[in-house]
Amino acid sequence: MKCVVQGCPGEMEERRIVHTFLRNRKPMVVEDLPALVCPVCGYAVLDLHVLDALFALDPETERPVRRAPVFRLSLAPAS
Ligand SMILES: [Zn+2]
Repeated sequence: MKCVVQGCPGEMEERRIVHTFLRNRKPMVVEDLPALVCPVCGYAVLDLHVLDALFALDPETERPVRRAPVFRLSLAPAS
């Protein structure tokens, strides 16, 4: 499948991705998500049933498979 981004010549590839998002202002990480990814621009498309499962994921009841550290960079102001 051709990349959906207008003007991008890439062909989408099946890959497993890591998706990070905020739920109740807490960072959540979901790994091993099947997705179509464009190797040229990096655009990723999730299948509808994958999205449904992602939205249905309840962090209060679902048991995390592992935990990840969360970092914040301290960056000097650009001069
Ligand atoms: Zn692309």
